[in-house]
Amino acid sequence: AKASGKNCFVLYEPEMTASAEYRFKVEQCLREAVELQQLNLVYQPKVDLTTGAVAGFEALCRWSHSQLGPISPIEFIPIAEQIGVIKPLTAWVLTCACRQAAHWNQISDADISLAVNISPSHFLDSDLVGLVSGVLQETGLPPYLLELEVTEALVQTDQLNLVTFGSLKAMGVKVAIDDFGTGYSSFASLSHLHVDSLKIDKYFVDDMLNDTKVKKLVGSMIEMGHSLDCKVIAEGIELRDQLEILQTFGCDGAQGYLFSRPVEEDQVPDLLQKATLF
Ligand code: C2E
Ligand code: CA
Ligand code: CA
Ligand code: CA
Repeated sequence: AKASGKNCFVLYEPEMTASAEYRFKVEQCLREAVELQQLNLVYQPKVDLTTGAVAGFEALCRWSHSQLGPISPIEFIPIAEQIGVIKPLTAWVLTCACRQAAHWNQISDADISLAVNISPSHFLDSDLVGLVSGVLQETGLPPYLLELEVTEALVQTDQLNLVTFGSLKAMGVKVAIDDFGTGYSSFASLSHLHVDSLKIDKYFVDDMLNDTKVKKLVGSMIEMGHSLDCKVIAEGIELRDQLEILQTFGCDGAQGYLFSRPVEEDQVPDLLQKATLF
């Protein structure tokens, strides 16, 4: 019994320790990467579904560590929130991306918008207003070309926390509800918030082709968005069939590998020169 007890212990402990150690290492490296600004940004175009022209870009954060290798934002953003570095991380993303977008607008005749993802906790923090206005001033990007994407978690919060939202809107910055349909936003709260756009989550875009109920649902989501005076953007379009359905439904914009994967900043001017990405 003693031997098996010991075996169990021996088999168990190194694993637990290894995962705890790995996690600790990731946290340490992430803290350092944010401080030393060792993260990268890639940009995915948002396409106008009536013309196929690039309407703007969404900045997406990338992190590749020399020892740990590339780590997905799906993994490191929640860690950044937990260890308290999401604010400096977002400040860096905003500054870099707005600087780029100001440049794109100099080389393009069209208005090119920029979308930046903001964690719900940060969105409700009054610091965000000062950060955004500072970055816009510093980079010269007009406020109406910046769109902040925040998930539906925002919509569930009570009105007191929405002072930030009001100040951002007053500044002229746009707000989009990201991953729309996966959270619990109600018609009532959405109609109070006056968001500028709704982004339909890839989950629905994927299922739309095999499930007629989901297809109808997507149609209704687009209609609902329009009745709230929102633009509706679909994410994760990979197939031409999906594009055609969304166009029939009157969806305003889309993103997805069908048009372009997220690209490095030096590939953006090429995309801007194309008349259409269809
Ligand atoms: P999201 O905001 O919903 O972004 C869309 C994700 O889908 C991105 O993944 C994008 O690369 C991917 N995607 C776009 N088109 C397609 C497609 O056609 N097919 C497939 N399979 N995927 C597609 P990514 O870049 O890995 O980002 C994952 C999530 O991490 C984002 O989801 C966002 O919630 C978060 N994130 C990324 N960058 C930032 C950031 O700077 N700040 C914050 N707070 N969150 C970020
Ligand atoms: Ca311009
Ligand atoms: Ca997003
Ligand atoms: Ca999504």
